[in-house]
Amino acid sequence: MHEHDLSYILNHLGEEDRSRHRGAVSPPIYQSSIFAFETVAQMRTAFGDELDNTLYTRGNNPTVEILRKKLAALEGADDALLFGSGAAAIAAGVMAGLRSGDHVVCVQKPYSWTRSLLRDFLARFGVGHAFVDARDTAAIEAALTPQTRLIVLESPNTMTYEQQDLAAVAALARRRGIRTLLDNSYATPLNQRAIALGIDLVAHSATKYLNGHSDVVAGVLCGSKALIREVFQGPYMTLGAMLSPHDAWLMIRGLRTLPVRLRQIAQTTQVVIAFLKEHPKVGHVWYPHDAGDPQYDLSLRQTTGASGLLSFTVRGETTATVERFCDALQRFLMTVSWGGYESLLFPVAAVYPPDTRVTDARAGQVPVNLVRISIGLEDADVLIADLAQALDRV
Ligand SMILES: *Cc1c(COP(=O)(O)O)cnc(C)c1O
Repeated sequence: MHEHDLSYILNHLGEEDRSRHRGAVSPPIYQSSIFAFETVAQMRTAFGDELDNTLYTRGNNPTVEILRKKLAALEGADDALLFGSGAAAIAAGVMAGLRSGDHVVCVQKPYSWTRSLLRDFLARFGVGHAFVDARDTAAIEAALTPQTRLIVLESPNTMTYEQQDLAAVAALARRRGIRTLLDNSYATPLNQRAIALGIDLVAHSATKYLNGHSDVVAGVLCGSKALIREVFQGPYMTLGAMLSPHDAWLMIRGLRTLPVRLRQIAQTTQVVIAFLKEHPKVGHVWYPHDAGDPQYDLSLRQTTGASGLLSFTVRGETTATVERFCDALQRFLMTVSWGGYESLLFPVAAVYPPDTRVTDARAGQVPVNLVRISIGLEDADVLIADLAQALDRV
C-alpha cells in the first residue's frame, strides 16, 4: 500500500482532527447546504477553489470530504469525487473530456447504462463509439480512429467476467494521448489497483461492495488532481449529481468493514463454486478467479483476489427451468444489484421481456439460462443447502 496502511485509511484518514468535534469517534454528519465566512477575504478564497474548500454542498462538504480522502487513498489516486450513483460517476468521467465529433472505444459488454450512455445518449451529441471484444488489446488498437479520445474499460464485467489487460491498454492509450476510464466495481480497490497500472480515471458503483449494506446508491471517480479538477469544473458542478452528506456518512460506516466482508465473502464463494461445479444440473460456472476461467492467468497478474459475484447456467437451457430453480430458492433474495451483506439472485436472461429495451440478454451476450448470484455473509452451509434443494426442483 502507498502512503497509509489499509486500517489507517479506513479508521482514521480524513478524521484525524477529532478535537473539532469534542472527541466524537464517529464523524458528524454536516447536514448543511451552505457554509458561512467571517470575512470577504475568506469567502473569496473559497470561491477560488470550491473543490478544496467548503462553500456549498453541491461542490464540497466536510462529511463527503472524509469519504473522498479514504476512497482516493484506497485507489492510490490523488483525489476522488463522490456521486449520487455509480452511473453518474461513470457519465461524468466519460463526458468530462469529450466534445462533438470525438470517438470512444468501449468494451463489448459494459454495464447496461454505460452502454446506453454511449449508444443512446452521447450519440445524440455527435460523439461516436465502437464496442469491441477488449479481451484482446489488439482489438482495441484496431478500433481507434484519429478522433478517439477515450477508452472505456470494465474489468472484470459483471455477467461474464471478461477482463482487459489493463497495463497493456493503458500503455497503448498513453502512446496515443488517449484517456482511459475503468469501471472497477467488481474487483474493488482492494483487489485491483488500476491507477498503479496506468489507468487515468477509476469509477465505482459504491452501491456495491464499497458501501456493502444495500442502503445507499452512490458512485465514485478517482484520478489525478488535474483530472479530478477537470471533472469537478465540468460535469460534477454543472450536472450536480452529488452524494448527500447523510449517505456519505453511511458509506464511511460501511467502508470500515470492507476488508473483513470481502475476505469472508471470497472464502464462502470458493465453497459455493466447488459445490456448483460438481452438481450435475449446473452447466458452466463463470468466475474470474477460477482455474477454469479462460483469462485466469490475467486475473492472477492484475488482481489480488475476487469477490462474491458469479454466474452459472442451469441445465435444461430454457427459461422455464431457470424460473423453477429461482422460484425455489429461499435464502437468496431475488433482485438486481450485488455486493451487499446478504446473498442475492438475478435471473438476468429470464426477467427481460423479449420485446422491451435492448439488453445484454437480447443482444445474445448472455445465455438464456444464466443466473447471477451475489454471495453475502451467510454461512456457506446455509447457502449450499438452499442451492441444493432448488436444483432438485429443476
Ligand atoms: C451497478 C453498477 C453500475 C451502476 O452503479 P449505480 O450505483 O447503480 O448507478 C455501474 N457499473 C457496474 C459494473 C455496476 O454493477
